[in-house]
Amino acid sequence: MNVLVCAACDRPLTQPPRPEHDGRKDPDGSRHAPPTVPPGTYAVDPEPCGAPFVPHPDPEWVGAAVPGVSVADPDGPGFLMSAGPCDTLVAGPEDTAGFLSYNAACQEYGCCGTPGREGPNQVCGGCEAVVATLFSECYGPYETHFLSVSAAEGVVP
Ligand SMILES: [Zn+2]
Repeated sequence: MNVLVCAACDRPLTQPPRPEHDGRKDPDGSRHAPPTVPPGTYAVDPEPCGAPFVPHPDPEWVGAAVPGVSVADPDGPGFLMSAGPCDTLVAGPEDTAGFLSYNAACQEYGCCGTPGREGPNQVCGGCEAVVATLFSECYGPYETHFLSVSAAEGVVP
């Protein structure tokens, strides 16, 4: 059984596999896509993920700053690209239910979830170490990117 644990306090951060969300409306009225990875599974994302964002050197480039979402550069032509941590561990947000809390240092709000543009927005439910970024807005993917231990040590909670 695959379960992620907090590197700071050893508390579980995910639970064993559960039934997969079907992408319909939640009881609270929010919407989001089905999770990117099946319940109980994880994937390593080798690409930079999340904040900080920097202008892409090619002003003709159009790509995603956060998974699945392009962000126009507010200070110039072209789009922003992620310069965030690489090798994040991607899990389904429902696998983390009850184990993570929202990072009080983040103040981002979406219409149905968290866009994930301000950096790691999830903390360990036990010791409050900054551990992950949740992407749960209705127009993007539905996934949680856990920081590697080395990336988490550079984050100020
Ligand atoms: Zn912890």
